[in-house]
Amino acid sequence: MQKLTEEYLEDAIEDSKPYASSGKVNMDLPNFDETMKDLLGVTIITNEGESLSAGDHHHYIPMQSTSKIIGLMLALQDFGKDRVFQTVGMEPMGDFFNSISQLESYDTSKPFNPMINAGAIATAALIKGKSVENRFNRYFDFLKKITNNNELQMSEEVYQAERANSARNRSLAYFMQSTGTLVTSVDDALELYFRMNSVMMCSEDFARVGAFLARGGMTSESEERLIPPHHLRTVKAIMMTSGMYNSSGHYAVEAGFPCKSGVSGSIIGAIPGRMGVGVIGPAISPKGNSTAGGALIKKLSQDLELNMFGVENT
Ligand code: GLN
Repeated sequence: MQKLTEEYLEDAIEDSKPYASSGKVNMDLPNFDETMKDLLGVTIITNEGESLSAGDHHHYIPMQSTSKIIGLMLALQDFGKDRVFQTVGMEPMGDFFNSISQLESYDTSKPFNPMINAGAIATAALIKGKSVENRFNRYFDFLKKITNNNELQMSEEVYQAERANSARNRSLAYFMQSTGTLVTSVDDALELYFRMNSVMMCSEDFARVGAFLARGGMTSESEERLIPPHHLRTVKAIMMTSGMYNSSGHYAVEAGFPCKSGVSGSIIGAIPGRMGVGVIGPAISPKGNSTAGGALIKKLSQDLELNMFGVENT
């Protein structure tokens, strides 16, 4: 097995970079342009607390859909599994992450799963709080604890762009209002969802979320469990089956551990009992996953023997 060192991670980055050419940078995001295409950064945080980084790991990008796993954790914390999965399904979906037609094809009263846009909007609506502000602050405080980073910022610019480009998400939310799926108003659900998407993180922050999942709800700094491990089992299972959208099957086979991507090119990976991985690589595939980041995740899985279903030598 390859030894995990920063030199190895630098080499893995160089090997994976060419895959960026098959992706496109999401120009809807502020300050995202072609010059970002070749950015690739990675951080790995082991369960022992060791942190190793390589490439463009200092670069901050919006969380985008990686926020969906934090939203799911809070909803599970607030309402428990049974109630959450009355609102949203737990089945993978073969359509694109912002699909409208899927809302009528599985169960008209719930989206397929919490990792697609409709499912995440419905799940965000469940997060408890008196106001959008209050609910976002709960989300943000939880995220700051998980990442052990009090300096995290929500980008006003990204948030405004989310609002300006919201026609598709708005239509998903209105449909879910019509079926009684949304437990808040359309505006409240979306306002929270847009803010959640707009928090800026670097690969170390993403890796910390992965490490938190890998360590069963504890950060490496404190031995305090922020959320019961049974909720994290649910989150990791849903990441495995749906976290990479309609490429989730591919990643289950080729990486073999739970991952969640965002259209900013972020990926969070969790290898239970071993480590968390955070990747940033803004060139994404039509399905919304970082192309170079995805290649890197698969390479790490092979070289470091991270596949939960078994590795070559066993
Ligand atoms: N802001 C994006 C949206 O809501 C996030 C989706 C994603 O990262 N896949 O469409």
